Amino acid sequence: MEKQRQLSSVQEDAGTRVPAAGGLEGDLIDQANADAEAELQIRLHQTDGRLLRAIEEALGRIRRGTYGLCEVCKKPISRVRLEAVSWTRLCRECKEGGRSAA
Ligand SMILES: [Zn+2]
Repeated sequence: MEKQRQLSSVQEDAGTRVPAAGGLEGDLIDQANADAEAELQIRLHQTDGRLLRAIEEALGRIRRGTYGLCEVCKKPISRVRLEAVSWTRLCRECKEGGRSAA
């Protein structure tokens, strides 16, 4: 959680450049999903240091200016999702099974 807080503070610096996606409804759905995902990922990652690496990668994306964009569909990841799963590389749609129509 400390790492996440560190990243969150970095994210606030870049916050104005993170595009918001969707309206309030989408945000609420994302919030619920992202919270659960964040908890799961923290549990998955905290034992082997992969979370730290994922956070480092996220910081790298902030430097390159690609932070907050889905790596699959290139659409902006919603703000609430980023707040809950700061290190994510995928938007909710792609994370949930790549339903983005090609
Ligand atoms: Zn996507």
